[in-house]
Amino acid sequence: MNATIIDGKKVAADIRSQLSREIKKLNAQQCFPKLEVILVGDNPASKVYVGMKQKDCEKVGIFGQTTTLDKTVEEVELLELIDQFNKDDSVHGILVQLPLPNHISENKVIERISPNKDVDGFHPVNRGKLLAGQDAFVPCTPAGMQELLKSYDYDPKGKHIVIVGRSGIVGLPFAVLMMQKKAWANATVTVCHTGSGDLQPYTKTADILVAAAGRPKVITADMIKPGAVVIDVGVNRVDDPTFDRGYRLVGDVDFDAVSQVAGAITPVPGGVGPMTRAMLLKNTVTSAKKLCNLL
Ligand code: NAP
Repeated sequence: MNATIIDGKKVAADIRSQLSREIKKLNAQQCFPKLEVILVGDNPASKVYVGMKQKDCEKVGIFGQTTTLDKTVEEVELLELIDQFNKDDSVHGILVQLPLPNHISENKVIERISPNKDVDGFHPVNRGKLLAGQDAFVPCTPAGMQELLKSYDYDPKGKHIVIVGRSGIVGLPFAVLMMQKKAWANATVTVCHTGSGDLQPYTKTADILVAAAGRPKVITADMIKPGAVVIDVGVNRVDDPTFDRGYRLVGDVDFDAVSQVAGAITPVPGGVGPMTRAMLLKNTVTSAKKLCNLL
């Protein structure tokens, strides 16, 4: 079997086009979506992510602004900046790029962002609402994974989804999303983690398998039910001297072997990553619509 490649880049580009059209309509009604991104310190990966978010905003017509604070900034100063953005009616989304320096409490910072502007969906209010099946900002990666399933018409309803990884930003919210009695969900969900022992008995029964462990080749071909849909969230650096930068990015799935058994698979890069970015834009536009009273 040769798996269908689920093209996250293309789906994300389609979503951006749709958002551009929506934003033009919002602008005509004097609503101008704006995202404030806060970067603390000079972590190279964070700088790259923030730069990409800024460019994504420009592509669709969101006013994206980044404030960079020194890595020695006091926690209180960061909290005050968040307060300022919370109060500013022209701001619809606030995102603090993680991780933060050790002297700053991530929980305190996330909890300071107004839940109405929490486009990352990390605030406990949004997490709780998601758990309760209420309207909430869904974290961007799980939201993007659901969009991928929709785009390729893989309806999770009645399917067994196995998720390897239970982090608060990927595995856990995706499990919650997929077990809801709603459209493009309603699945039976199993969540595996380092306490699960041998993963194969679980993964072998998955109609949809999600790899979100952050470990290269944690999923091998013998762990796949033939025809399964495989979503690879992992992004791992492996040394590769044939690349100028000395490494390449791979997922958690042994892609070449697994794509011989699976029915469909997301590549890394080009699968879940672009969708995560697209969902940040979508959440920001949704927030703008709500705060402009246009929803
Ligand atoms: P994380 O916080 O480190 O969580 C990893 C999870 O996987 C944990 O629940 C851990 O179990 C579990 N795990 C690790 N090794 C395992 C193993 N051998 N067997 C079973 N379970 C195992 O990571 P994360 O933030 O969720 O990210 C996961 C991966 O996705 C990373 O590679 C990250 O870079 C990538 N990611 C990609 C995107 C994207 O947009 N493409 C977005 C977010 C994350 P325990 O809980 O027991 O420790």
